[in-house]
Amino acid sequence: MSQKNDRQNLMDKITSLAKRRGFVFPGSEIYGGLANTWDYGPVGVELKNNIKQAWWKFFVKNREDVVGLDAAILMNSRVWEASGHIAGFNDALIDCKACKARIRADHLIEDSLNIKAEGMTPEDMTKLIEENNIKCPVCGKKDFTNARKFGLMFKTFQGVTEEDKNIIYLRPETAQAMFVNFKNVLSSTHKKIPFGIAQIGKAFRNEITPGNFIFRTIEFEQMEIEYFINEKDWEKSFEYWQEQMASWLDYIGVKKENYSIREHDKDELSHYSKKTIDFEYNFPFGTKELYGLAYRGDFDLTQHQEHSKQSMEYFDTENNRKYIPHVIEPTFGVDRSVLAVMIDAYCEEEAPTADGKTETRVVMKFNKNIAPVKVAILPLSKKENLSKKAKEVFDLVKTEFASQYDESQSIGKRYRRQDEIGTPYCVTVDFKSLDDDAVTVRDRDTMKQERVKVGELVEWLRKKLS
Ligand code: ATP
Repeated sequence: MSQKNDRQNLMDKITSLAKRRGFVFPGSEIYGGLANTWDYGPVGVELKNNIKQAWWKFFVKNREDVVGLDAAILMNSRVWEASGHIAGFNDALIDCKACKARIRADHLIEDSLNIKAEGMTPEDMTKLIEENNIKCPVCGKKDFTNARKFGLMFKTFQGVTEEDKNIIYLRPETAQAMFVNFKNVLSSTHKKIPFGIAQIGKAFRNEITPGNFIFRTIEFEQMEIEYFINEKDWEKSFEYWQEQMASWLDYIGVKKENYSIREHDKDELSHYSKKTIDFEYNFPFGTKELYGLAYRGDFDLTQHQEHSKQSMEYFDTENNRKYIPHVIEPTFGVDRSVLAVMIDAYCEEEAPTADGKTETRVVMKFNKNIAPVKVAILPLSKKENLSKKAKEVFDLVKTEFASQYDESQSIGKRYRRQDEIGTPYCVTVDFKSLDDDAVTVRDRDTMKQERVKVGELVEWLRKKLS
């Protein structure tokens, strides 16, 4: 089978496992779905929460120089005027006149010519598509409209009348709330530069192109830090945050060989940025942005100072001078993190069955710190005395470790289910347990089994899962 088919198969396998085992379901499925929306199921929500909590610990709780924020999604529209989103946050679209497919012009150029189209005008894109005889990826014809801009922000109305003056927007990024609250955070915490404000929250973009599962959705979550610095330190700080982002990827189990760093070319950079890099992951559908790191200069705070007429200056007591801080912005997509760790965790292995044959075992080898379920308690049979003993063991571990109790179907099927959701340890309670007060613990990765005394189980798990 060709490599391309292998990678496509991998995506199909992950999407179907995600549904089968309760990681991710198609949004509004019983009504035929809603394009580019997905719902996290019982296992998926645990995985996603573990990633968010690990991020908060890694970048906020464990540091002295970063504080948190949880701002409202709906903000005064003037925020988006100041940030430049109302005027400039749009994609260039073209329509195929033959089959009516609506396509992002930059993606079409990038996929067909293997060049980056960020920063090009719609006119440039139209010309490039014509000159290179690019065909519609859906029907193969060459009959496009001109490229034109399409706003990405979702609009709604505040109040009872749907008039222009009542328009408000669902935020397309979490970042602006950190700038708008810069002075509030400063005066309430007395932080000294350099320091950062971090936030995890929903963002919304009216994306019209096919999303590749949870890679590109219209509603998604971001984890962002705005790190305020003195201009002279920007290069050092940029390098530092690049290293921190790489350590984070290692911490959640994204393998080094599966991602790379790409620096934006000069003509691709936003006008206010001197340097931007993307952490690109080798997704089955292509190498695409996972996270971004940008040096934004003093653009955002200056814009908000001009538009709000409120000072965004920082007073440097050591040097007795006021200045508008510069910003380094590390930005992380939660959903793209979930997707990358699922792809990296997915393994198929040949494993022996109870009757001496072999079968293909699908196992999600998540890093233990983010695995959605840490321990499964499995009584060997549904006999009453075994269930009772197993429930006692479950009660013992469930308060400290995310645990599942499962007594339905054969033990082989239950192991397979736990492997597919990536549970590091399966604890089997058998008839011998009633006599020796011990259980068998099976390791997800090695499938080795170890007998552990019930009284020592919590401590044993603590050591293994720490
Ligand atoms: P892309 O080029 O893929 O559209 P972007 O450059 O517009 O992404 P940013 O504005 O830098 O993305 O957003 C920061 C992060 O938010 C991205 O690195 C990504 O992880 C995540 N993100 C952005 N758009 C989406 C989306 N539509 N769905 C899911 N995650 C997203």
